[in-house]
Amino acid sequence: MTQECIFCKIAAKEIPVSVIYEDEYMIAFPDIKPAAPVHVLVIPKKHIANLLELAPDDSVLMGHVLSNIPKIAVLLGLAEDGFRLVVNTKDNGGQTVDHLHWHILGGRIMTWPPG
Ligand code: AMP
Ligand code: ZN
Repeated sequence: MTQECIFCKIAAKEIPVSVIYEDEYMIAFPDIKPAAPVHVLVIPKKHIANLLELAPDDSVLMGHVLSNIPKIAVLLGLAEDGFRLVVNTKDNGGQTVDHLHWHILGGRIMTWPPG
């Protein structure tokens, strides 16, 4: 755990969230400021600042997280109409929390290109 990382605190249950999915390696919870009718964040419990900080050893973890995301989408009722998956990375990507996370956005039609 990295001190002062808000998502590490969520993973450690120091900040309570409504858990949508959890296992040993990852947790999914609602975004506090939803940008869509369904907006869920998925994080690895391990602190990784962003995609650029992935280590070779993280590939199994990444496969685990990514393969669970469609299961979470099904749980959220997004399978029929679909959803958008976003990983904002560093400043130009709009990343505001430096702990790797996937946004699952659904419940409305998304526009393209994103802002
Ligand atoms: P990003 O801007 O891609 O780094 O996404 C960070 C997201 O974390 C934003 O959508 C925030 O609304 C969300 N967020 C920040 N703090 C919390 C929190 N305590 N619980 C849930 N979501 C949070
Ligand atoms: Zn962290």
